[in-house]
Amino acid sequence: MRIGVGYDSHRLVKGRKLVLGGVNIPFGKGLIGHSDADVLCHAIIDSVIGALGLGDIGKNFPDTDPEWKDAPSVNLLKYIVGLARANGYKVSWIDAIIIAERPKLSPYIESMKEAISQSGIPTGLINIKAKTNEGMGLIGRGGGIAAYAVCLLRRIA
Ligand code: MG
Repeated sequence: MRIGVGYDSHRLVKGRKLVLGGVNIPFGKGLIGHSDADVLCHAIIDSVIGALGLGDIGKNFPDTDPEWKDAPSVNLLKYIVGLARANGYKVSWIDAIIIAERPKLSPYIESMKEAISQSGIPTGLINIKAKTNEGMGLIGRGGGIAAYAVCLLRRIA
């Protein structure tokens, strides 16, 4: 078995769509960054890459590579899940935390699991938790959203 940890954060700004775990969430602001800035997918991708020992998300998806420009982050995750398989591993568990002061994310968790499952990780192997930062710091003031993820890979027999 292999284990990996992932982290990502992006600032919230007006005039951007909010995409978390592959789901469009109605909110006055969205995350700014390359692609859709989907922090949850990015943290999960980072955790799988970590478990594979293949560096980080920037090394695997350089922002100079036109192939991934404006691609939904679920597609990047699908590519990484395929890379895990090609290296002889399957994802056997993902646990993730989204830290956001607003909006309330609990109504979207099941849809996120469904959207993420398009990457090849079944919904039954994904756990997503959402919490606030209790008003502390930039995230607590609603200036950004962060996500953590842990991935367990199992060697394919
Ligand atoms: Mg990111």
